[in-house]
Amino acid sequence: MIPLCEYVCDTCGELIVSPDEGYLEWVGGVGIKDHSFKIIHHKHECQRKEKDLPNGFIKDGSLSRYLGVENLQNLYTLLHPGPLYGKGKGILVEDINEYMEILRRLTIPYYEEARIYWPLAEEDGFFCDVNEVYPCLVSTLKLIIEKYK
Ligand SMILES: [Zn+2]
Repeated sequence: MIPLCEYVCDTCGELIVSPDEGYLEWVGGVGIKDHSFKIIHHKHECQRKEKDLPNGFIKDGSLSRYLGVENLQNLYTLLHPGPLYGKGKGILVEDINEYMEILRRLTIPYYEEARIYWPLAEEDGFFCDVNEVYPCLVSTLKLIIEKYK
C-alpha cells in the first residue's frame, strides 16, 4: 500500500486507491460530540445513511482535506476549536481513543497497512516488553509489514 495515499475502506473493506476516492465521515450534531469516525470510499454504497442514525447527522469531507502537513489544522480543529474559539472548551470528540486511531491512520506513514497485521504481531509476541512509543514508530510499522505480510 502507498503510505498516506491508499486506505482500507471501513465499510466495504476494499482498497481506496487515491485520496480523491476517499472520504472521512463521522456523526455529530447539536449537543452531541463527534463520534463514529470512518475512512470510506466516496460512493453511495459505502456512505452511512442519515435515516440509520438515532440522532445527530453525518459530517464528512474529502480525504485529501485531511492529509498532509498543510491540512493538519483540519484534523486538530475536529479535536479542539483552537486558540481563538477553544478557550475554556474541552475536546469535541466523544471518544479520544477512536479519534487517535483516525489521527494515526491519516498522519503516520505505514500505519494503515501495519494495522492489518497488528493482531498477528500481537499474537506472535512482537510487542513484548516495548514502551508506548515503539509500536507506532515508522521503523516499527515497516518491520511489522515486512515480517507479517
Ligand atoms: Zn468502500
